[in-house]
Amino acid sequence: MATRCNIELGNDRYVQATEWKDQLRIDIREWETKNGKRMPTKKGISLPLNRWKMLVDSFDYLDQALVENNTYTTHVGGNVYASITTNSVCVDLRKNWLPPNQTEVVPTKKGITLRPMEYTKLKEAVSVIGDFVPELNTVVPCPFSYDHQNQLEFLRCSECNPDGFTE
Ligand SMILES: [Zn+2]
Repeated sequence: MATRCNIELGNDRYVQATEWKDQLRIDIREWETKNGKRMPTKKGISLPLNRWKMLVDSFDYLDQALVENNTYTTHVGGNVYASITTNSVCVDLRKNWLPPNQTEVVPTKKGITLRPMEYTKLKEAVSVIGDFVPELNTVVPCPFSYDHQNQLEFLRCSECNPDGFTE
């Protein structure tokens, strides 16, 4: 696995652009040193480029929710969501899942809750990541893509509608 860039967010957390088997991902994760070796922990989220772009596009809304102490959740793609809980100062990036026979997704343990300074550093890293990952210029998050002008295509898309809601 090749790492194109590695930017520190604080508290042993990093955002990295990684390349593995032709797939580029943006990985936001807490690391630890075990027996003198640097190891990634399970606290984190690994985003394909389209989801990273969706997240970056939602920073303004997340910022606004933080200022207004509001609850806010945005769908980043697949089962990944970014959310802010009322009166929280943290931004939560997390995989959710839909339990059987339920209509609402619930959070899983897979994710990371960014403290205010870590979130600020993540936003500051956006342009640097853009420099290291020029491929981002050509990524169109699928809600904005041409074939998603059609509501049916949106509903059929596993990225936009991962749990197959058809209401
Ligand atoms: Zn889609």
